[in-house]
Amino acid sequence: MGTRAIGTTQVFYTDVKVPGSAVLGQVDRGWEALDAYLWYERLGLSAARTGAAWAAFDYALEYAKTRKQFGRPIGQFQAISHKLADMKVMLDVSRTLVYRFAWLMSQGKATRLDAAVVKLQTSEAYKAVSDMGLQILGGYGYCMEYPMQRFFRDSRLATIGVGTSEIQRNIIARGLGL
Ligand SMILES: Cc1cc2nc3c(=O)[nH]c(=O)nc-3n(C[C@H](O)[C@H](O)[C@H](O)COP(=O)(O)OP(=O)(O)OC[C@H]3O[C@@H](n4cnc5c(N)ncnc54)[C@H](O)[C@@H]3O)c2cc1C
Repeated sequence: MGTRAIGTTQVFYTDVKVPGSAVLGQVDRGWEALDAYLWYERLGLSAARTGAAWAAFDYALEYAKTRKQFGRPIGQFQAISHKLADMKVMLDVSRTLVYRFAWLMSQGKATRLDAAVVKLQTSEAYKAVSDMGLQILGGYGYCMEYPMQRFFRDSRLATIGVGTSEIQRNIIARGLGL
């Protein structure tokens, strides 16, 4: 559906032998090694998705300022301007959380809960922002000639890959002692 720059494949490891010098982490404790990497992936992808969401927002904002209907730019209709206001707030929250999580990681203070919070917020915000951006463009938002549909398609992976939003909420709830 989206992120078509690379293909999606399955990888099978059958009878693979790894010399001791090439072992990452400890044998039979692979999840811990993978988990340590996942924090960086959650940080990097959260930053990338916030950037992509910002690009979708910029495009929608410019469109709202230039597209005229009923004698005025559509951005002057409150239904459109409030969408853009909500998008701006979501993006500011996402960006702040990305910076906070990067700082926490650099200080060695990040927790699993922090990683889940930034991943959940930035991916759900990307999905919501690109959905609203598509709506602001109207029919052009749905057309392949315009970039908004790509943001919309790409953003749908954000809440699924690297741990779904449901799993992030599970982690956050566990971190709250629930
Ligand atoms: C384009 C693409 C690229 C990908 N790239 C990679 C990659 O590079 N590396 C990699 O390892 N994986 C990759 N994935 C896989 C991706 O990480 C998984 O699809 C994702 O983790 C969800 O797992 P699943 O598809 O098995 O869904 P399922 O686990 O079957 O989940 C289905 C639904 O049930 C919900 N659910 C499942 N368990 C729970 C629970 N305990 N509590 C609440 N809800 C739950 C899920 O949130 C989801 O809504 C990729 C997927 C796609 C589509």
